Amino acid sequence: MAASTQLSAALREKYEPVIGLEVHVQLLTQTKIFCGCSTQFGAPPNTNVCPVCLGLPGALPVLNKRSVEFAVLAAQALNCQVRETSIFARKNYFYPDLPKGYQISQFDKPLAEHGYIEIGLSDGGAKKIGITRLHMEEDAGKSIHDGLSDSGVYTSIDLNRSGTPLIEIVSEPDMRSADEAYAYLTLMKETILYTGVSDCNMEEGSLRCDANVSVRPKGQQKFGTKAEIKNVNSFRFIREAIEYEIDRQIEILEAGERVQQETRLYNSAEGKTYSMRSKEQAHDYRYFPEPDLLPLVVDARWQAQIREKLPELPEARRKRMVADYGITDYDAQVLTVSKALADQFEEAARAAKNPKRVANLVQSELAGRLKAKGLEIEQSPISMKGVAMSADLVESGAISSKILKDLYDKAFANGEDFPTVYEREKPQQITDTAAIEKIIEEIIAANPKQVEQYRAGKATILGFFVGQVMKATKGQAKPELVNELLRKQLAIGH
Ligand SMILES: [Zn+2]
Repeated sequence: MAASTQLSAALREKYEPVIGLEVHVQLLTQTKIFCGCSTQFGAPPNTNVCPVCLGLPGALPVLNKRSVEFAVLAAQALNCQVRETSIFARKNYFYPDLPKGYQISQFDKPLAEHGYIEIGLSDGGAKKIGITRLHMEEDAGKSIHDGLSDSGVYTSIDLNRSGTPLIEIVSEPDMRSADEAYAYLTLMKETILYTGVSDCNMEEGSLRCDANVSVRPKGQQKFGTKAEIKNVNSFRFIREAIEYEIDRQIEILEAGERVQQETRLYNSAEGKTYSMRSKEQAHDYRYFPEPDLLPLVVDARWQAQIREKLPELPEARRKRMVADYGITDYDAQVLTVSKALADQFEEAARAAKNPKRVANLVQSELAGRLKAKGLEIEQSPISMKGVAMSADLVESGAISSKILKDLYDKAFANGEDFPTVYEREKPQQITDTAAIEKIIEEIIAANPKQVEQYRAGKATILGFFVGQVMKATKGQAKPELVNELLRKQLAIGH
């Protein structure tokens, strides 16, 4: 939890936070951006390297075409305008994990600009958050400060990551609360995941985020002095760090002091941010165009080819699913948490008799059990196909909701999918014709009105009788047999 700074709500009301986010996303190419080395995560240190990504003198970069396609696809998904000609530039700084002494990035002519995404607000409204730019760059290596036997004396360098393709996505300073920043990041990640250009795995560093935070008295046009919070490794911590930082800056202003422009780190154990370096020590990167690379040209034709690979994006998909399957916004939100899950759901829902029942089962029976076991929906023992099958069984009256719950419990206990458990455990079916006929007689006698309707030609009323028989037999009568006998007996006396 973020450390509470005991600010009163009234005090917070006086100020308006201004937040902008910079997100780095690693692209899922097989090889690096300027050489043929593998980008595989977790390889032994310094094994996926070559003269180019080691920054040896004379080695020349060759741009990975696939990385451009991925970057353009991400830019399109984020509603950016892709520049026909963008320029790679050298960003000069010294750091041990950057052997060349510069990072190849893009500066004044980035790949894409002027994008936006639209986040949902807690009041049900929506807000567009601008994306200033999206540019391509190479990742640096990694400094390893602990975990090795001589870590107390040395910092070790692993250059496997050096040259991994990145996109940096810079937002406009459009967010006004930590919650908006959280919503932006969540939707951003979801959108990128849908395009398939990154796995956005924060633990492995495939998605990293820095936050620029300032506050200003409400009504003031001019931005306050901002602090940059770096290297926060989860969305939850970013939200906490921003909340803490907003309160810290308000306290400084209330004390009549000035906020320092600086870079700060978030300590999640303490829930506080700490100063890392002030602006005076900040870098001047001396950008200049990279002389070893030609301008990058992505013409209209290539852009159109890439756009064809753009999938239906999460927001659009949710709206369509609500309309197509009669589910709620909340259902749609849960069911589109990943593209894979949404695909599975839609396949199941299209196959099932009642899509809404499939959604309900996911929300209630499935979600509750997953939560109890600490599993993500992707790890569920019951597949979406299994959910669809169970929904149909309940729908047809073949099993009761209670039996469904039991079967779900067994599936979770054994780690088995629904069809497997159902085949083994399915309720003993009553196949005794005489017994069923007797039940049918009673039902016919008890429902003369429906019998009349059926005999007058309303064939759909048969479903009512099937349901009654299933209810009377606790779902244990064999459905085909019930149908057959019902038709026969309803026809008698006609
Ligand atoms: Zn290499």
